[in-house]
Amino acid sequence: MNGGDVNDVVLVGFDVHAIQAYVFAPIRPIDISGGSWLLERFGRDVRTRIERDHGGRTVYVGGGNGMFVLPELAVARRAADEIERLFAKCTKGGAICSAAVGVGPDFQVARRELAAALHARKNGRWLEEATVDLRSPEPPGSLCQACGREPPVSDPDRVGDRSERIGEQCRVRRQAGRTDEPAVPGLVELAFARDLEALLEPPAADGAGDRSSRALAVLYLDADRAGERIAGFDTADALREFAEALQGGVRTATATALDERGLQRRVMVPVIGGDDVLLIAEASVAAGLLASLWDGLDAEVGARPGPTAGLTFSAGLAVADRFVPIGVMVGAARDALHDAKHATYLARQAGGPPQPHVHAVSLGGVRRSGGTGTLFGGSIPRGHWGFGAHCSAPTVEETARAIAGVSATQRSGLLADLTATGELRSLTIDYRAARDRSRSLADAVACAGELARACGQGSPWELLRSAIFAVELGWV
Ligand SMILES: [Zn+2]
Repeated sequence: MNGGDVNDVVLVGFDVHAIQAYVFAPIRPIDISGGSWLLERFGRDVRTRIERDHGGRTVYVGGGNGMFVLPELAVARRAADEIERLFAKCTKGGAICSAAVGVGPDFQVARRELAAALHARKNGRWLEEATVDLRSPEPPGSLCQACGREPPVSDPDRVGDRSERIGEQCRVRRQAGRTDEPAVPGLVELAFARDLEALLEPPAADGAGDRSSRALAVLYLDADRAGERIAGFDTADALREFAEALQGGVRTATATALDERGLQRRVMVPVIGGDDVLLIAEASVAAGLLASLWDGLDAEVGARPGPTAGLTFSAGLAVADRFVPIGVMVGAARDALHDAKHATYLARQAGGPPQPHVHAVSLGGVRRSGGTGTLFGGSIPRGHWGFGAHCSAPTVEETARAIAGVSATQRSGLLADLTATGELRSLTIDYRAARDRSRSLADAVACAGELARACGQGSPWELLRSAIFAVELGWV
């Protein structure tokens, strides 16, 4: 970095390390929401300070990172120090935020300098500072009961009729989770986190209650190939315009989808990245919610003229019993998103129309039909999803509707048949379909077969098995 020419572009950037590990360290939804809300509030504070106290301009801020244009180098260095201090105070050392400065004769050079400086700063700090002392000699019983990663502070915190000994980091998270401060519209739904707390209470001993309502889903979407576009912007204004359009579009689309599905206060939306969409909801609404999100993202982002035109959003979907820790589900949804993006990429390489995919996984424990692992035999293109999204037949929804028309007895027999392998499976299912006078089973098998061919799958069996799961989750 040089000493700074008056015409140089001076940038300050920050990045929160391992943001998901921080947000999802606690088990309780209220603590997860609180941590997410702290990050959101931190981003706003930084923006205000940089603009008001340092005369800077915001390029973008969101989801644990940000970039600003500062008037001069000395001011930029002070601003970077302040960002790091502010973050440490805000999370009580629960996570690390690194900030650095980049200078260059133009935006592209300054941005490369900033990326390198930020990288170096992060690497250095990983060695210097440990966020959490995992080598604590204390027995597990004397660790924070919310995250199990920090020493508890002396006085217990009351949750419902229990008291918990929690640490300083979780205490600030929980305080944030309990504030009644209005959340960003449609985002960080603290209300749902509180409702979820109640849902997570152990079920009644008599096993009463609808089992399907106990399943949760994590939906994780982000823009395909956004990185390529970002790298192409050669001025701060162009990048700002893109970031604003993308962030604003994603937020509006999310709020609209929740509104359309009547899901306000029923979905938790932790902030984990500038333009990622992460939603935690009851599993029964996940398929329709994804369809509404896709439509909304099209309307607000992809179909808008301007810098975001043509962007698509692939999706990962993880379904599990609600006693599976949310952090584990988010990890599974993130892996599923990678698979979906890969499928989207391969389809594009093959010369198909640009269309996002969804990759769905079950973590088990919900229904035996769900099993564990990939659902629907692989990633499904948006055009074959259904559930309200504009689709060309055949769709997953159609197959599930066909299965819903099959009698419960036949369905459970079919599920048993599906556990067989090879030729035997095909023979027993054909035999069962032939004996079914209502023809509904034969229709469902035909529907799954059509869908399998359309999605390039070798056999319809995984689609059929997952369609039974979809019916049990209440998707149709
Ligand atoms: Zn804790």
